[in-house]
Amino acid sequence: MEKTNYLILGSGVAGLTFALKMATRFPDRKITIITKGDEDESNTKYAQGGVAVVTSEITDSYQDHIEDTLIAGAGLCDLSVVEMVIKNGPKRLQELISWGANFDKNQTGNFDLGMEGGHSANRVLHHKDQTGFEIEQKILKQVHRQENIELLPHHFALELLVENKRCYGAKVIRIVNKKTTIFQADFTILATGGIGNTYQHSSNPAIATGDGIAMAYRAGAKISDMEFIQFHPTVFYEKESKNKFLISEAVRGFGAHLKNKRGERFLLKIDSRGELASRDIVSQAIDMELKKSREPCVFLDCTHLDMDKFQKHFPTIVQTCIAKGVNPARDWIPVVPAQHYLCGGVDVDTNGQTSIQHLYACGEVSRTGLHGAYRLASNSLLEALVYADNIYKHLASCDLKENKLPISLENKTNSDFIPMTKVHQIQLQNLKSELQALMSSSVGIVRSNSDLRIAKNRLTEWKSILEKSIENREMDWKMMEILNQIEVGLLIVEHSLKRDENCGGFMKLKEIEHS
Ligand SMILES: Cc1cc2nc3c(=O)[nH]c(=O)nc-3n(C[C@H](O)[C@H](O)[C@H](O)COP(=O)(O)OP(=O)(O)OC[C@H]3O[C@@H](n4cnc5c(N)ncnc54)[C@H](O)[C@@H]3O)c2cc1C
Repeated sequence: MEKTNYLILGSGVAGLTFALKMATRFPDRKITIITKGDEDESNTKYAQGGVAVVTSEITDSYQDHIEDTLIAGAGLCDLSVVEMVIKNGPKRLQELISWGANFDKNQTGNFDLGMEGGHSANRVLHHKDQTGFEIEQKILKQVHRQENIELLPHHFALELLVENKRCYGAKVIRIVNKKTTIFQADFTILATGGIGNTYQHSSNPAIATGDGIAMAYRAGAKISDMEFIQFHPTVFYEKESKNKFLISEAVRGFGAHLKNKRGERFLLKIDSRGELASRDIVSQAIDMELKKSREPCVFLDCTHLDMDKFQKHFPTIVQTCIAKGVNPARDWIPVVPAQHYLCGGVDVDTNGQTSIQHLYACGEVSRTGLHGAYRLASNSLLEALVYADNIYKHLASCDLKENKLPISLENKTNSDFIPMTKVHQIQLQNLKSELQALMSSSVGIVRSNSDLRIAKNRLTEWKSILEKSIENREMDWKMMEILNQIEVGLLIVEHSLKRDENCGGFMKLKEIEHS
């Protein structure tokens, strides 16, 4: 068994920021970060747009940012949380800069603030179109300087050690040798990010499988708002590729037309703003068009645009499309909507505390009340930074005494697993593809109770098969990961069945119910 003061699951912006603050303030305390992939692999690394922060009270105001957030959240945000997060933005930004993160400036030496959908002012700080990468690398650099932080890549957290609603740490498997270890921690912080890989099309990397939400749910934590999933309207469509490349919404803003295979601008039938309709409307319209046509994708037509200017604005998009065999100057770009962000998750208070003692959650894994039914663009990095700080301040004021693992938990978890056979591995991969297809077709952008019920039955069946294998200890961490995705799928289904009114990113078709 390993002992640590703070066990952090996840090395994106949420986990790293908390670790860095705690380690700097308390050099005598031990901080352990467990992360399942390479140390920087995370949603954070791929964030493009930037961080929304009010940096001038002349050209912008806290009140405007607050109102934009509330409008996006469709009346379901927690006002006090929105105010707290937005007013904390400037301090958290200064910290990021002090850790070395660079944000683009304009010719006058001021921040080059980007404008994004739903914002009433230019307020998005960015580093080219690689803001997340810049933040992740700069914080990691600081983390490596701290002798009291142990960062363990390629370690997968299997389960939280919880008894009587108190968390004592986590059981972790070291991926390279499949050895399990118990980490006893005074405090455990979930920073495991999103769920994107549960869907067939997602902008998220493969690590985003909702492990933290599933683990917390199994441990009895309160989970909320799982029905509120944000879909990005346009990622590059490729039949085989797992890594989906985002085609920024700014491309539509630049004048690209969204067309079906027959060349019809189908959006105009749904919203007079056409391609400039909001993100949720565009995603819903594409989803309906694809279901009607049974085609795999729709297209962005840029061929009528000034290509010199287009290339200057979107160099990465042009290069990537060409590398994938599509030249935007003469070809339509194939696109599909993709899961992008989860607004719900593990319920936390403003200290980041979950409904389980000694367990905290931060970043995309958590549900704070900031986003309500829909996230305002570029508010999520900000949320992670602010909550990492809140958790740090709260825990810095808590007494530290050993949170001794009860014997019952020690015995229960002290087991290794029988490695899976090749056949099992192939079956598991097939199951994952089936799961992703089911989630996209039946629990996607536009849902219905009948589809949700069908999905619930299949997910429940898969869950019980996997649970049996795990009971028999025929298990690999990959199996646990898929079980987590199934658990997350079931939570989305359950929460979607319970919600009747459409709002924000949630849309359910009305059906005539037969009794
Ligand atoms: C393409 C893209 C563009 C985006 N653009 C923006 C933007 O412009 N602005 C904005 O505000 N937001 C943006 N977002 C969203 C934002 O990036 C995320 O919400 C945020 O980075 C989440 O940070 P996090 O620390 O909570 O999680 P992540 O950064 O996803 O980190 C999660 C960590 O947990 C680890 N982990 C997960 N499960 C386990 C396990 N079982 N055991 C051990 N480790 C585990 C992962 O390996 C990873 O290290 C974007 C997201 C994507 C995908």
